[in-house]
Amino acid sequence: MTAETLPSQTARSEALFARARAVTPGGVNSPVRAFRSVGGSPRFIREAHGAYLTDVDGNRYVDYIGSWGPMILGHDHPAVRGAILEALAGGTSFGAPGEREVLLAEAVTRITGAERVRFVNSGTEATMSALRLARGFTGRKYIVKFRGNYHGHADGLLVEAGSGLMTNAEGGLGQSAPSSAGVPEEYARLTLVSEYNDPAALDTLMRERGHEIAAVIFEPVVGNAGVLIPTPEFLAALHRVRDAGVLLIADEVMTGFRLSLNGATGLLGLSPDLTCWGKVIGGGLPVGAYGGRADVMDRVSPQGPVYQAGTLSGNPLAMAAGLATLAVLEADPGIYGRLEAYTSRLAEGLKSAAREAGVPVSVNQIGSMLTAFHQDAQDGSVRTYADAARSDTAAFARWFQAMLGRGVYWAPSQFESIFVGAAHTDAELEITMEAARAAYAGLG
Ligand code: PLP
Repeated sequence: MTAETLPSQTARSEALFARARAVTPGGVNSPVRAFRSVGGSPRFIREAHGAYLTDVDGNRYVDYIGSWGPMILGHDHPAVRGAILEALAGGTSFGAPGEREVLLAEAVTRITGAERVRFVNSGTEATMSALRLARGFTGRKYIVKFRGNYHGHADGLLVEAGSGLMTNAEGGLGQSAPSSAGVPEEYARLTLVSEYNDPAALDTLMRERGHEIAAVIFEPVVGNAGVLIPTPEFLAALHRVRDAGVLLIADEVMTGFRLSLNGATGLLGLSPDLTCWGKVIGGGLPVGAYGGRADVMDRVSPQGPVYQAGTLSGNPLAMAAGLATLAVLEADPGIYGRLEAYTSRLAEGLKSAAREAGVPVSVNQIGSMLTAFHQDAQDGSVRTYADAARSDTAAFARWFQAMLGRGVYWAPSQFESIFVGAAHTDAELEITMEAARAAYAGLG
C-alpha cells in the first residue's frame, strides 16, 4: 500500500461521533467501540464485505474484529445473505415456534453432543440463564468465575478479584467486589473468583466451599484478557469440580464453532455439563444459546421450574443466519485448518517483524484467535490475567493507530483477541505484514 492510499480522511466519522455523543452515552452502543484505550476517533462503518470494512469516509480496512467473532465466514457471505433474504420473505417474527428453530437445535445438538439447547438473543442472556439453571438444579447459590474471564454483563458476572483474590471484607475464600457501579455487593458476594490456570487455587476453593457452589463458569480459551490458553493441569482441575456436585459450564460464546466445529470443547477434549454459545451461532445476527445434559436442561420452563423466556428468541432471520453459517462450516472440513494456517503465519510474521524492530512482543495464538501482548515474555508464557496486565498498553495504542492508518483494523484494546475469518487470503496477509513491519519500526 502506498502513502497515497493510506486512509487519512476521518471527517465524516468524527462528525457522526460528535452527533452520537449527544444522544448515546459515550457515543457508542458497546464500550470498546469508543477507542477509549487507544485514543482517537472511532471509525463509523458504512459496509462490510469479505475481509474488509469500509468506513463512512470511504477508507477500507482489512478487518480483524469480525464483529468480535461472529463473522467467521467473512462479511456478507452469499449463503448467509441468501438464507436471511429467504427468511425475510416469510415475515420477521412470529412469537410462536417455527421450523428453523428445530433445525438449528438439531444442528447444534448433533455437532456438540449437547442433549438439549435453548435459544436466546445474546451471549449475556445465555450465561445468565445457564447460571440460574445451575442454581435451580443444585439448590446452591454460589458460583465461581475466573479473574479476567468475561461472561457478559449480567449483575453477578461483573465481578473480578483485583488484588484481593481470595478474601474481602466478608472474609470468604474467593470472594470479591463488583467491577461495575450499580451491582449491589450482595450480588457480587455470590460470585467467588479464582485465578485462571491455577489448579491448586481451584482445588482449595472446591475443598473448602464446594458444597455451597452451584457452578463453575469459565472461558475454555480466554479471549477477554487477550488470548490465554489453558494448561492441561487446569483443565483437569476444572473436571474435578464435579466431585463436589458442582456443574461445569463452558462459556463458548467466543470459541464455539470457531476453534473447531465443536469449539474449544472439541479441541481440548472437555466435557462440560452445560455450554453457552453466541457470536458464530448467529452468523452475524443476535443469537445466543445454552444447552447440555438433558436432566439439567429439562429443569427449564415450561418443562421445569427455572423460568427463562424471550420475545424474539428463535427469531426466523437469526435462525436462518445461524443455520446457513453452521451448514457452510460443516460442509467444509478443511476450513479450520486453513484458518489456523493463516493465523499461524500471522503470528510468525508479527514475531519476526517485532524482533527486527527491537519491540518486545509475546504472542498467544490458538486456531483463528491471537493476541500479541506488548511485553518482554516468552511466546506462550502469558497464562493469567496478571501476566496479561503487565503489557505496555501505551505501546499497543501507538501500534494500533499505526496499523489503522495503514488500512488494518485490529482490535482496539490490548486485552482482546483478534479473529481471522475464511475471507482472509494471502493478499490480506501481505497487506497486514507490510503494515505491521512499519508499525513496529515506528515503535522501535
Ligand atoms: N461470554 C464470552 C466469552 C464473551 O466473549 C462475550 C462477549 O464478548 C459474552 C459472553 C457476552 O456476549 P454478548 O456480548 O453477546 O452478550
